[in-house]
Amino acid sequence: MGLVREPLQAAPAPAVATETAPARHAVARPAPTTASRPIAVYAPPTDAIGCPTTEAVAGATSLQELQLAIQGCLACPLGPGRLKFVFGEGDPSARLLFVGEGPGRDEDLQGRPFVGKAGELLDKMIGAIGLRRDQTYIANVVKCRPPDNRTPTSEEAAACLGYLRRQIELIRPAVIVTLGATPLRELVGVSEGITRVRGQWKRVVVGGREIPVMPTFHPAYVLRQYTQDVRRAVWEDLKAAKEWADKAEGA
Ligand code: SF4
Repeated sequence: MGLVREPLQAAPAPAVATETAPARHAVARPAPTTASRPIAVYAPPTDAIGCPTTEAVAGATSLQELQLAIQGCLACPLGPGRLKFVFGEGDPSARLLFVGEGPGRDEDLQGRPFVGKAGELLDKMIGAIGLRRDQTYIANVVKCRPPDNRTPTSEEAAACLGYLRRQIELIRPAVIVTLGATPLRELVGVSEGITRVRGQWKRVVVGGREIPVMPTFHPAYVLRQYTQDVRRAVWEDLKAAKEWADKAEGA
């Protein structure tokens, strides 16, 4: 299938996300309630392990160092509920970086991103563009599982985003593929519906580098809407992302 794309020329002005380390104590308190049952208020820790310092995050010079610095994080209410911290995995110098929303049940159990049914489909999607999963890097906006697989709140995403941004600085991918609406909104600052913007190049600046972003559907959505049109759309998005990454590598 011939795809002729000029991604960067056609890309709109980049949505420049502010470079922030995880916001310490940026945690929304529950709204007052009239319920008689007492509601536990999350109190962020003040020690450097429960709430890693911005210096520890910025000073990490490898993904391993970064993981060690942040894996005890309790900087938002998702931390205390996790079974396993899901840092991300893959080639530390991958050209293609996939960013999803957050860990689900299987990921929380295994401490690895995209290992359930959606992960199996993501592997197939990656295979369809001629790559193996371990030739890419896969991460999420939040590193701890939101209860009942709900979408992370913007406060939770903001608390975690500095970690993802440091990961991106260390990996230096040629292209980022956002999976679903949440990473596009939280990382790139684009809040339009994913159905409308998928396949359209966006940009994000991380560590002073402008990185092309290809938004596509989340594999879980593809599983729910398993039509030829949806699968073809994802394939086209990933193919365009790989073509751009190949071009960037050869440049
Ligand atoms: S989701 Fe991110 S910010 Fe919240 S506790 Fe987990 S690692 Fe920390």
